[in-house]
Amino acid sequence: MPVPVFTHPDSLLHDPGPGHPERPERLRAILHVLASEPAAERRESPEAPVELLESVHAATYLRRLRDTAEQGGGVLDADTTMSADSWRAALRSAGGAVAAVQHALAGKGSAFSAGRPPGHHALRDAAMGFCLLGNAVIAARAGQALGAGRALIVDWDVHHGNGTQALVEHDASVRFVSLHQSPWWPGTGAESERGVGNIFNLPRPPGLPPERYVDDLWSGIAHATADWTPDLIVISAGFDAMRGDPLGGFTLEPEHYADITTRLRSRLPGAALVGVLEGGYIPDRLAAGVAACIRAMA
Ligand SMILES: [Zn+2]
Repeated sequence: MPVPVFTHPDSLLHDPGPGHPERPERLRAILHVLASEPAAERRESPEAPVELLESVHAATYLRRLRDTAEQGGGVLDADTTMSADSWRAALRSAGGAVAAVQHALAGKGSAFSAGRPPGHHALRDAAMGFCLLGNAVIAARAGQALGAGRALIVDWDVHHGNGTQALVEHDASVRFVSLHQSPWWPGTGAESERGVGNIFNLPRPPGLPPERYVDDLWSGIAHATADWTPDLIVISAGFDAMRGDPLGGFTLEPEHYADITTRLRSRLPGAALVGVLEGGYIPDRLAAGVAACIRAMA
């Protein structure tokens, strides 16, 4: 069965400015590769419902994002800039994650959301690190609204998902496992940050053999799910942990993402599995990583 990949042309219009690593070419490369990938079936991302966004973000913040776009864009933080189309892009990026969850839960299968901007650094009331809306958490909340009470978020982006952690660290119904480079931006993600016992951080140095990262991530997932079985797994799927990425020093190859995806499927066969695009800054490598992940889902 091909895996539905939710995306929208508006996600290509979000323009953070010349020379920015989070550029439209990233998504273009993914869509180009997936167009000839039999394991993937392209679907249109809807806009995320506002009530769902307001369950994760402050209403004043959401209004500020919309207003900034209406005024033609603006700088939100040192790394995060909106253009006139960025709010529409963000609505589709979050909406794709929601639609992927709805699809996966309906058939207990898999789905992927290929949107921009990414989400795992976004805070309740602030943009951060290229991210506007916390897509992975929004996806988890959408799943819970449909009865998937327990959500596991696995974040394999090379950067710590500080936004995701901040949004779920007081909520035992969500568990968060993050493998990330340390020390590295954004500086959070120590093993001692445990939330209410639902946070499992795996900070690691750069340059280790790829199998080490895979094994360590896997032991974190096994630890988080030893006595707790999720109904839904949301992968914060960043591909900047690949060898050569300009924003990280990890050494993964596409097959390693496929390996983890396959293991998740076989360890937790009863859970719906959804991938939500985060980072990855060499477009061709990013596209190869996404395709490997989707083939493993299929
Ligand atoms: Zn990243």
